[in-house]
Amino acid sequence: DANEIKADVVVLGAGPGGYSAAFRCADLGLDTVLIERHPTLGGVCLNVGCIPSKALLHVAKVIDEAKHIEHAGIKFSKPEIDLPSVAAYKSGIVKKLTDGLTSMAKMRKVKVVQGNAKFIDDKNIFVEHTDVEGKQTKVSFDSCIIAAGSQSSKMSFIPHEDPRIWDSTNALEVKEVPKKLLVMGGGIIGLEMATVYQRLGSQIDVVIRGPQVMTGTDKDIVKVYTKANEKNFNFMFKTQTQSIIPKKEGIYVEFKGENAPEPQTYDAVLVAMGRTPNGLKIGLENTGVEVDEKGFIKVDNQLKTKVPHIHAIGDIIGGPMLAHKAVHEGHVAAEVIAGHKVFFEPKQIPGIAYTFPEIATAGMSEIEAKEAGINYEVSSFPWSASGRALAADVASSGLTKLIFDKDTDQLIGGAIVGDNAGELLGEISLALEMDCDAEDIALTIHAHPTLHESVGMAAEIFEGTITDLP
Ligand code: FAD
Repeated sequence: DANEIKADVVVLGAGPGGYSAAFRCADLGLDTVLIERHPTLGGVCLNVGCIPSKALLHVAKVIDEAKHIEHAGIKFSKPEIDLPSVAAYKSGIVKKLTDGLTSMAKMRKVKVVQGNAKFIDDKNIFVEHTDVEGKQTKVSFDSCIIAAGSQSSKMSFIPHEDPRIWDSTNALEVKEVPKKLLVMGGGIIGLEMATVYQRLGSQIDVVIRGPQVMTGTDKDIVKVYTKANEKNFNFMFKTQTQSIIPKKEGIYVEFKGENAPEPQTYDAVLVAMGRTPNGLKIGLENTGVEVDEKGFIKVDNQLKTKVPHIHAIGDIIGGPMLAHKAVHEGHVAAEVIAGHKVFFEPKQIPGIAYTFPEIATAGMSEIEAKEAGINYEVSSFPWSASGRALAADVASSGLTKLIFDKDTDQLIGGAIVGDNAGELLGEISLALEMDCDAEDIALTIHAHPTLHESVGMAAEIFEGTITDLP
């Protein structure tokens, strides 16, 4: 016999999209239920994504600085790594944030139901509790927001069941540091985890199908990253894994492709080859909601599915699978349900790889500007000409790039590779949102010496007010 509850709005999934949507719904006076199968709120991002990875990247940075600062007249002794303490540092941060979400939900009287949810029809969801065995709840709703997210993609040729074959969640556990680690995939998640484990002491091969890491990112930006990391990683471009065979002494991997090396044996393999949406696992076949064969849900610019009182947001609707995108979509969906006339039509969605150096992009890439047939011009400022970058010893691996529409002088995109690029990107995001042109940026007084003045400099180069660099 199932309990029954009714709500104005049910939000399925408590990741960044789901909790943001639920909190906004409650703030707008709607009676809101949030369903999540895990005991903590926060979804992938807080529990096994954005936050734990950044905690470990911070640890990696500390190790990195201890190792490399010798030439500035200071010498540290070799860092000693206590892995359980590293893991505890990471978990402590995650707990602080997920506990915070729980109290924020309480404060707003958002009712959290812990369990696995499945749609029964367009008006009802069935929940199999994960906190109380055998307990079931039927939740009926006037409106629903699906925010069930995504998970690491699995491939049929990979023996995922072997404990030495990791996904990002396994890698974030930092239970051990494999001597030899193969990272499959040169995207953000693969490179971030490679950065962590390289600093912790692993020897790392990164196998990449295409000719560069970070597919879709402009070559000039990626080049700076790759050059800075040539010694840290063995990048195997234009290469694929042919077969992965678990053996007693390690994971035996054969490669194929233009530059394929001899077979190698690894202590662990991290599979970071994309994420799959959870759209095929939540009973949508019992509803009128349209899902494609991969599991992505189709929505309009108000995040409405084919069933107008059911919305979907975040990773499950595709586009850049990023937490801040999910959050903004969540707010729009909630406001639409509350009757506001709002739309999700962002001018830019920033993307950041928190690697060393960081790679940060916003708005159009040069590749996209070209494809769109825009008469564009690129203006770049190399950090080798920045006093602050030189002082901080980050000058050799930094570049700030702005892309302008030549017909209007308007900023259409930007990218920064370098130390703290993710933090520096904010100005470019705001400039894009505000439709700034080159003069707006060039005439803004940037503090000196800073890394962000490189944005002003790049605009001045476009304006022609700076003609030579030191
Ligand atoms: P999710 O966070 O995936 O949450 C969905 C929730 O729904 C989950 O908690 C899940 O348990 C729950 N759920 C699913 N199905 C059901 C069901 N049937 N019943 C009940 N509950 C269910 N993004 C960034 O912007 N910045 C980063 O630095 C960053 N780093 C990342 C690092 C890693 C290692 C990974 C894996 C991802 C990273 N991401 C990052 C991506 C980011 O985590 C996602 O884009 C974000 O979490 C998506 O939010 P969401 O709300 O759509 O879904």
